[in-house]
Amino acid sequence: MRHNRQRWWAAMGLDWRRTVCGRQVHGTRVMLVSERDAGRGADSPATALPATDGLASSDPALPLAVFCADCAPVLLYDPVNRVAAAVHAGWRGTVAGVAIEAVRLLVSEFGTDPGQLRAGIGPAIGPCCYEVGDEVIATWIGTQLDRGLRAVIRQDGRWHFDLWRANLLTLEAAGLIASNVEIAGICTRCRSSEWFSHRATQAGESRAGRFAAVIAVPAG
Ligand SMILES: [Zn+2]
Repeated sequence: MRHNRQRWWAAMGLDWRRTVCGRQVHGTRVMLVSERDAGRGADSPATALPATDGLASSDPALPLAVFCADCAPVLLYDPVNRVAAAVHAGWRGTVAGVAIEAVRLLVSEFGTDPGQLRAGIGPAIGPCCYEVGDEVIATWIGTQLDRGLRAVIRQDGRWHFDLWRANLLTLEAAGLIASNVEIAGICTRCRSSEWFSHRATQAGESRAGRFAAVIAVPAG
């Protein structure tokens, strides 16, 4: 795996060994990282930033990575101030507003205008496969981010949660413009032969693991 990582990072012009990673806990802590954090968590979770689900930096030499298997990776880029952020957003982080926290940090630290932010919501479990319990839906509705219930689906008497759309709505609440948000639309559960999927692993249908979503400010 490490061999593959180095190869993929190099293809993007990035150095895997300098990548900054957090110990993800489905929380809302977003950390501003700098040179002294280079490589934290790159080779061992032990050195990753504790209890951190979001990372932000303006340093092109610091790739920021989050790891997902059904949870949504959300990448943010401010092309005006040249700052980037990476966020790990499962349902708990999503309803708790981890993406909003990331936008807030960019606004307060870099003067980012949310209307200028570009965002990408990466492969994650889709509304097709994300059957959830009542508590997920109740907690989401309680956020009042989705008065039209656009991220809630009732299917065959069960609740499904649209994690992609929920993160879009969350980003819109933070001031992003919908047309600046790209949703990959790839369901990790449907396509577990190509992506790691926690639920597919639980069902014994694929190998356990997580894929990385990585972003860095362009050099130069
Ligand atoms: Zn699916």
